This record gives sequence, structure tokens and C-alpha cells, in this order.
Amino acid sequence: MKSDGQAMTSTTKPKPKPKKQKSVAKLREEAAVLLQKLVRMKAADENGFATCVTCGKRQHYTEMDGGHFISRGWKATKLVEENVHPQCKGCNKYAYGKHDDYALYMVDTYGIEMVRELNDKKRELCKQNRIELEEIKLELRARIREQEIRLNLR
Ligand SMILES: [Zn+2]
Repeated sequence: MKSDGQAMTSTTKPKPKPKKQKSVAKLREEAAVLLQKLVRMKAADENGFATCVTCGKRQHYTEMDGGHFISRGWKATKLVEENVHPQCKGCNKYAYGKHDDYALYMVDTYGIEMVRELNDKKRELCKQNRIELEEIKLELRARIREQEIRLNLR
């Protein structure tokens, strides 16, 4: 260190760090966050209110969660749109997702066969690579933009 108070100057610019590639897990997580937002927006009425699928409470979509029926810990079903629905935080966070009520909602909405298939699918090997996950993210972003237009947020 110089002690004469002069700023240290350097003629060589620091090399830009090579952009670190995001891991597949990170990309999947980012896609899941987008999907959770999309399902809340899709379910919202023109005033932005949606219904919690497990208790029926009406809330603004920005205050709700996108709750997974099959736990988001299962990779193969983490990005399946039919596996994610708006839930109030009371149900999703503080009542363990109200799994019993969620199961009834799923069967009522999609039928038992589809729910079984979804439940089987969770054990499938999840083969999505970086490129596929980037594409999924782009598509989800585009659909969120459509919802923003519909909800007059743009
Ligand atoms: Zn609820």
C-alpha cells in the first residue's frame, strides 16, 4: 500500500469474471417460483382476487402462495402446472398445505385417474437439462406478462 494518499492506478482492467453457470437445481427452483406466480395470477379475477383451493378464502393473489399438491421436493412434479394452485398462507405455510382438503380438491377438479398419474409421476426420473429449464422459464415469463396485461398491471 502506498502511504502518500494517491489512489492506486492500474492500466490493466480487472478481467471480468466468467459468468458462473446456474445449476440445474437453481434453474428448476427459479422456474418453480415463476410457475407459482403464474397459477396465482391465472386464478385471479379482474380485481386480483383468487380463492384458496383448500379453505375457500378470497385474497389478493399477491398475498397468496402457489401451493404444491405433491410436495415441491419431488423434482418430476415440481413444474407440473396442475400440481400447483393458489393457497392462502394459513393453509400452505401453517397447516402443512392442508393435504386432506387439497386431495379432495384435486379429485374433484381433475378426477382420481389424473391424480393417481400425477402421484406416480413424482417418482419418474427428472431429465430436464439447463436449456429445457431456460425455455420453461421464458415461456412462464411470457405467460406472466399476459396475465399482467389482463390484470392491468402494465
Ligand atoms: Zn386457505
